[in-house]
Amino acid sequence: MRHLLPGTQASRGMALGRARLVQPSRYAVDTRPLAEDEIEGELEHLHRALDTARQELRELRGKLHGALAREVNEFIDAHSLLLDDAELLRGLDDLVRIGHYRAGAALKKQRDKLAAVFEAMDDPYLRSRKEDIDQVIARVVSALQRQTSVEERKLAARVGEILVADTIAPADMAQLAGNGLLGVVTSSGSAYSHSAILARSLGLPMLVGARDALALLHDDDLILLDAERGEAIVHPTAQDLARYRAWQREAAAEGRRLATLANAPTRTRDGMDVRLLANAETPADVALARARGADGVGLYRTEFLFLRHKGLPSEDEQFIAYRDLVLGMGGLPVTIRTLDLGADKADAAGLVLRGEDNPALGVRGVRLSLRYPAVFTTQIRAILRAACYGPVRVLVPMVTQPDELIAVRTLFKLARQDLKRESIDLPEKLPLGAMIEVPAAAINVRALLEHADFLAIGTNDLAQYVLAADRGNDALDNIYTPLQPAMLRLLSHVIGAGRRAKKPVSLCGEIGGDVNFTAMLLALGLNEFSMHPSQLLQVRDRLAALDHATLRGHATRLLRAVTHEQVASLLAQLEA
Ligand code: PEP
Ligand code: MG
Repeated sequence: MRHLLPGTQASRGMALGRARLVQPSRYAVDTRPLAEDEIEGELEHLHRALDTARQELRELRGKLHGALAREVNEFIDAHSLLLDDAELLRGLDDLVRIGHYRAGAALKKQRDKLAAVFEAMDDPYLRSRKEDIDQVIARVVSALQRQTSVEERKLAARVGEILVADTIAPADMAQLAGNGLLGVVTSSGSAYSHSAILARSLGLPMLVGARDALALLHDDDLILLDAERGEAIVHPTAQDLARYRAWQREAAAEGRRLATLANAPTRTRDGMDVRLLANAETPADVALARARGADGVGLYRTEFLFLRHKGLPSEDEQFIAYRDLVLGMGGLPVTIRTLDLGADKADAAGLVLRGEDNPALGVRGVRLSLRYPAVFTTQIRAILRAACYGPVRVLVPMVTQPDELIAVRTLFKLARQDLKRESIDLPEKLPLGAMIEVPAAAINVRALLEHADFLAIGTNDLAQYVLAADRGNDALDNIYTPLQPAMLRLLSHVIGAGRRAKKPVSLCGEIGGDVNFTAMLLALGLNEFSMHPSQLLQVRDRLAALDHATLRGHATRLLRAVTHEQVASLLAQLEA
């Protein structure tokens, strides 16, 4: 009988296929303590399983080719790093050696401890790294279980199947996509997870948070995965199938039409030019940004370099990453954001302060960088050196007050002097910009504009701080919306202040690439949007259908709205 499984869209699209269930690996929680003479044997078991997991990842890397390999290798690297993480390994050994835990129980204990740390993080992207821990530990548990032949976790899917699992590792997803997997439904997970990001770039529809999926579905059940509506339909009816076929026809036509926009100018219906920039982190993002006609990179998050690295990346390592980004964009401007680490985005080198009661309001972003001038200067030198290879702008995250920008400028000036003394090539003046993501920065933006050459609005954090609502907490969905009147007024204030100061203002939060917000942002006066490159064509297309002058004419009405529901209904009228 037909029934619906609700979930959250993590990657757009629809797919019709047979369900292939992967039950989570059960941790072998044999809680009986080890006898003294069992300890060495148990440690050997554990390390053999860790080695098997490492070997599997190496083999997986060997199986992937071309663009997919480039993209997925990063995820494999992240998982391999976790498997070699000194803290994780020491913790496991201690649990066995000192705590007398059996290997399976030690893995579970470490998993729970690390999961709690990640769950407490305020950044949804980083919080989603809990899934990486789960996936890595599941791989080790599975290897351990195979040694003792308890159960084998089968991760296989054939052409025409939709994978249904508690969570899926990006590397596995890539391999299965190569085998003809059509889509993914997970009972946990978030739209910010590595897997979700990968699914989007593979164009694989994905639904996360479909809580009862594993309990309600059976292998070979026919399911219609409708990520567009955020649901999976089990045993779809003829009517559902007709809707799917209609979607397929539309999607094919839409794909062909959008492809023609790759080299088209970005212009509203009434002829206003808009700049479309890319949020790019990986070489694949850079390639896509070029292929889809981005006007430059509006946000390059450098913290990913630090998060992936054991210890601190050296000046040369940073220089090469930044230079390659600049070279990859072939002369288009690139906005490099300085380190945005915080207590939640903990780095392997331990820069981040531990034990803050409220890390989201703690020493993060530029506050942290300024605490470590030597580390910050290394990054600044790398940026300055990379800026000799093409136009670079520097963006400072989590700015609250002007003295932070003044301090950053001073460090840039000092680094320039040092590089000059060392006879290293130096770029012309580098524009320095402020992220506007702290309410105080938005309200007092005029003071910042005296020290900033440009602004980039980070609506992901700005909304979280303005609304006092954690950006990753699904329970606050009715509050955490950019349609909140307070958000509209702040956005309008910041964009207007930038225009009056004749300084560029872009927006690089998630809503920049969401066509549901394009009309609103245009109405508020925004003319630079930065987004994941996979969204560039849709936004260009949306802009071409919108009349800038008409929308601007309605800005006052939008700004007078007093509830987000009113904003939504006004926008619906405007777009009708
Ligand atoms: C933002 O806060 O909107 C932003 C773009 O920065 P991040 O998502 O990296 O915090
Ligand atoms: Mg932010």
